[in-house]
Amino acid sequence: MPTGEFLPFSPPCIGEDEIAEVAATLRTDWITTGPKTKQFEREFADYLNAPGALALNSCTAGLHTALATLGIGPGDEVITTPMTFAATVNVIEQVGARPVLADVEPDTLNMDPARVEAAVTPRTRALIAVHYAGHPAELDALRATADRHGLALIEDAAHAIPARYRGRYIGSGDNPAAFSFYATKNMTTAEGGMLTGDPDFLDRARMISLHGMSRDAWKRYDQGGSWRYEIVYPGFKYNMTDVQAALGLWQLRRLAEFQRRRRAVVARYQAAFGVYDAFQLPVERPHVEHAWHLYVPRLRPEATDVTRDDLLAGLAARNIGASVHFIPIHLHPYYRDKYGYAPEDFPIAYDAFTRLLSLPLHPRLRDDDVERVIDAVLEVALPARARLPKAA
Ligand SMILES: *Cc1c(COP(=O)(O)O)cnc(C)c1O
Repeated sequence: MPTGEFLPFSPPCIGEDEIAEVAATLRTDWITTGPKTKQFEREFADYLNAPGALALNSCTAGLHTALATLGIGPGDEVITTPMTFAATVNVIEQVGARPVLADVEPDTLNMDPARVEAAVTPRTRALIAVHYAGHPAELDALRATADRHGLALIEDAAHAIPARYRGRYIGSGDNPAAFSFYATKNMTTAEGGMLTGDPDFLDRARMISLHGMSRDAWKRYDQGGSWRYEIVYPGFKYNMTDVQAALGLWQLRRLAEFQRRRRAVVARYQAAFGVYDAFQLPVERPHVEHAWHLYVPRLRPEATDVTRDDLLAGLAARNIGASVHFIPIHLHPYYRDKYGYAPEDFPIAYDAFTRLLSLPLHPRLRDDDVERVIDAVLEVALPARARLPKAA
């Protein structure tokens, strides 16, 4: 039997303002895409200084819509990272294109720009960068590769709100960036997402994301709206509802406060684990601001005999929620079998996967919760030999 009260890995952080706004929305005659969604798009774009924003029902929808809007399909290749959630790669398959994986940098676990450049072929049409755990990928180098070969640069920003690269928020560029408001993410609408990018791209993406209807089709049931519409593309059904947007508006207003708490928890973890050789800590490069969606230390097998799976089991026995982000794409049966991948084809991602785990990180963690996690990790991961502090 596990001991102690269960400490969840990443519960949502919903306040009374969110609840009141959802209830008020439900009392209006407009509960799906409407004025609240428009307002959420505007406030989200303003927050990031993005040229425009399109609210959708998931980040996956945003990535799928972006690829379709760019006209990427059969015969095309899209380069992305093995160190991501399957959605990033599934959408490439769904438009009929071929995903090409490029291994990651050993420190950030973001797609390595040099390996991306080496993976470009005449069929490459786009790159999808994932800001792993909330640490921005090296956008300058990736953009240079994209420009050199005439490729689109799409960002999977599911972890990256609010993250900055060289002072600018992720999502503030003209290229497509897809955010997630899934229940575990840094801000949530239960399910939801946002696509940012330049206004012309977003106009077309908006049409494609809502059945391929030619006009602002959500208004067709409003006073003065017209029943007439035209289908100009076999589009998707990916719109956000006003009930979700009601949540998002308040989550966005609380984001800065959430991030202060995330950073404080991370600082405590880094200080506690940094004195032991057994842990390889996550990094934050000097020119970025990390969104700290995930806190992902790795075990160093040269310094401890305890495995990642031992550590996960030890935390489970102590009723502490932890997880693994991610099982690399090339290990999943669909991708492994379709493309004939072996684990060592992407050795950095594979090695990291065997040693990493994600510890609880969310704004509701109290100081004593954080100390409980630290004590549990040290107790399990540091048998006497490894408990010696670093030499210097
Ligand atoms: C959560 C996540 C997604 C999918 O987000 P949804 O909003 O659930 O579609 C995509 N990519 C990454 C890296 C994620 O972590």
